Amino acid sequence: MCPVNMTYAAIPALRHQPDVTQDWIDTLIGGSYDAPLRPIGEKAGITLGMAMTEKQGGSDVRANTTRAEPVDGARRLWRLTGHKWFCSAPMSDGFLTLAYTDKGLSCFLVPRITPDGARNAIHIMRLKDKLGNKSNASSEIEYHGATGWLIGEAGRGVATIIDMVHHTRLGTISATLGIMRMALAQAVNHAQGRSAFQKRLIDQPAMRAVLADLALEYEAAVALVVRVAKAFDAPDGPERAFARLSVALAKYWLTKRNPAFVFECMECLGGAGYVEEGPMPRLYREAPLNAIWEGSGNVIALDVLRTLAKQPDSREAYIGELAAQRGKHARFDAALDTLLSDMEGPVGEAQARGLVGRMALLLQAALLLAHGPATVAETFCESRLGGSDGRMFGVLPAGADIDPILERQVFA
Ligand SMILES: Cc1cc2nc3c(=O)[nH]c(=O)nc-3n(C[C@H](O)[C@H](O)[C@H](O)COP(=O)(O)OP(=O)(O)OC[C@H]3O[C@@H](n4cnc5c(N)ncnc54)[C@H](O)[C@@H]3O)c2cc1C
Repeated sequence: MCPVNMTYAAIPALRHQPDVTQDWIDTLIGGSYDAPLRPIGEKAGITLGMAMTEKQGGSDVRANTTRAEPVDGARRLWRLTGHKWFCSAPMSDGFLTLAYTDKGLSCFLVPRITPDGARNAIHIMRLKDKLGNKSNASSEIEYHGATGWLIGEAGRGVATIIDMVHHTRLGTISATLGIMRMALAQAVNHAQGRSAFQKRLIDQPAMRAVLADLALEYEAAVALVVRVAKAFDAPDGPERAFARLSVALAKYWLTKRNPAFVFECMECLGGAGYVEEGPMPRLYREAPLNAIWEGSGNVIALDVLRTLAKQPDSREAYIGELAAQRGKHARFDAALDTLLSDMEGPVGEAQARGLVGRMALLLQAALLLAHGPATVAETFCESRLGGSDGRMFGVLPAGADIDPILERQVFA
């Protein structure tokens, strides 16, 4: 989903400069895919990528060295020179790019084909040989005096492209949810069909506990992703403030949990899960990626600390969402009290992950208490908020009501 995600996420950044980008926005939301390279005026649909990362600077984009020199101020045209070490979907029609001007790091839209129909001076040096995600090309590119339009104010590149980054984070959590769904469906389906020790796996109590625990994890992920996505749809106000913080919480938590989740689903298939004829190895290789790009774990966790410190509206919106569920579960209330006191701080950088993980988990619990079936919400709180150990899937509290949790995942 990476190319679709980046294309979708580019729109808010392009809106910083409608005089230059309106044609791009109009073509981009056309909804069709038009592969051949042509000037965008001749295309029915376009896709966009992003080129921020350089060898010496991925998380720390201010370490970038790509330079931009002005060509035509009135048309906002510049010429870019430099190397970008990670640029996915290089077949895209254009890239939002960071490069230094005399005013500082700035954001540019660099087209593959210039408006006069010539190939822009963007060279794909090589494709990356990645662990997974192989059907989506990623590349190293160089700009050799490539033409680009300045988007937003010179020197405010990070502030401009952050809108794209924010929206790609919504994509990373949605894609993670998709991977979880597919992995869980494979596990449940296998357990329904496979027998061991005279019983179908789905009827073996230890397997039921594993599948039910995975189902809880998945249900909580659905609740979180859908809630964050809803907040993105709000025009402004507290919902947007909530979106800023909650997408980072979800990105941190869901993408980090995903490799362990997919692995556990894989194990439900036994040896069949480990061979390439089935889909599990591919899902497993894909699973860590969404944690690494668009803000790796530490970077996201530190981002959350900054948002808590600098954006009281986000903090209030988050706390309000949780406080509304007070009184529904004793473990939730106790965990909420501890969390609120810990959020008062000070929280050091070394404690960032601990706090952010708990914030995400309690948000999931609150959403399940608000919207989920009672058994799902209760077992989630019992198993993850100080009940059983919670470090391994399949460790549910004794007496957990597993049947209704599993019924929601089993197909006739
Ligand atoms: C498959 C894939 C596709 C990608 N596609 C693109 C793309 O299309 N365009 C693009 O621009 N980039 C892309 N990237 C690059 C990606 O966004 C970067 O790799 C990522 O932002 C991390 O940057 P880095 O590699 O320089 O690692 P670093 O920034 O060196 O980080 C290494 C580790 O240090 C941690 N760290 C960083 N800063 C701190 C700190 N202050 N405190 C504590 N820990 C810290 C990080 O969390 C990370 O774990 C892609 C990467 C992958 C894997």
